[in-house]
Amino acid sequence: MLRACYNGGKEGLITLHILPSFGVRKERGNAMARIVKFFETTLRDGEQTPGINYFAEEKLEIAQALAAMGFDTLDCGFAISGQPEFEAIQLIARNIDGAEVCSIARCAAEDIDRAWEAVRDAEQPTIHPFVSTSPLHREVKLGKTRAEVLEMARTAVARGRQYTENVDFALEDTTRTEHDFILEVIDAVMREGVRFVALCDTVGFALPWEFGQLVDDVRREFPGVRISAHCHDDLGLAVANALTALQHGAERVDTCFNGLGERAGNAATEDVVMAIRTRHADLDLDVRVDTTKIIPTSRLIARLSGMQPQWTKSVVGANAFAHGGGIHQDGVLKDARTYEIMRPEDIGLPPSDRRMFVGKLSGRAALNAQLRELGYDLTPEQLARAFQLVKIALGKKRTLEEMDLRRCAETAISPTATVATLDDDEA
Ligand code: MN
Repeated sequence: MLRACYNGGKEGLITLHILPSFGVRKERGNAMARIVKFFETTLRDGEQTPGINYFAEEKLEIAQALAAMGFDTLDCGFAISGQPEFEAIQLIARNIDGAEVCSIARCAAEDIDRAWEAVRDAEQPTIHPFVSTSPLHREVKLGKTRAEVLEMARTAVARGRQYTENVDFALEDTTRTEHDFILEVIDAVMREGVRFVALCDTVGFALPWEFGQLVDDVRREFPGVRISAHCHDDLGLAVANALTALQHGAERVDTCFNGLGERAGNAATEDVVMAIRTRHADLDLDVRVDTTKIIPTSRLIARLSGMQPQWTKSVVGANAFAHGGGIHQDGVLKDARTYEIMRPEDIGLPPSDRRMFVGKLSGRAALNAQLRELGYDLTPEQLARAFQLVKIALGKKRTLEEMDLRRCAETAISPTATVATLDDDEA
């Protein structure tokens, strides 16, 4: 199937080859597309969201859901931060198959040893030391010189490598670090046999093209480097930065479900997954993740974290497949593709969850569809009357419930009732 897409005015409308009915998953897209890896950090950076505190069994339940979706590495916590956290990571390590189980660690011998102890029973254990590299963090937070920070990074990776080959390393606050020092640290950890290097926009400061440039610079200097992109959303750019990093050759992204994470959160897992899946033909990337489990997993995390995604949150928000304007509703009722670029069923929402909101700005087509769902089959005249009644009711009440819609329909059908009847009757 062909679909037109605007190309920034350069060539006017160009035509893209998109899959039949854009969403058939079985013989999906470009067989040569590079598969993106995920460092899913809902259980670590996500748990650093102020206000969240999972119990060990809850962390395991979330880890099981994430592993079942097919994420590569589950960042499960910070083992040395306390006994409950250590035990939660160990519980996950002992019960998860098919995904790597990771603990982060500062660059101290006891941190790395503790992280390893927590994950060592996993089928695929991983440890992830980190150190702040930016001048501000070095001076204010660590009180260390460049040379000292460099040595911390080197010895941390060397110690981790005594335990496992799966040692990844994060340069915290990479995007505010001197260019030459970034390269020095990467050189040192690569010499010690690091696996992934996480380039971190810890404070969500980078612009997408800057982050792309950073990935280019690092890859030019170290052709064998494997990069993971850790992006925060302080300026609302986390997903854009993560996608840019991938386009520039990063292999992996760090993400959190529902956009949880420190402060404004990390790049949202569901956004990165669906951006890649929806635009895979243009990105030449794809994901090996079961997208139909996005909604159940998002809801599990919302329930256990006590934090509901905002209504207009991309992909998982309650309104992501809801339509309010009459023109939009009419379009969607004729063909959902007029205003939807994903299918609800692709993320695990039943098609019936596509909502037509009957509000002040909605149209007759949506009202008719809603009333049909409630079992009413109105003639055009009756529908016109019901529509008028709904608008009157919405002058008195902010939102209408099923009971209100039924009342409007019954009144419209009734041969004796007039618009005034409902109006007088406190609607
Ligand atoms: Mn972070």
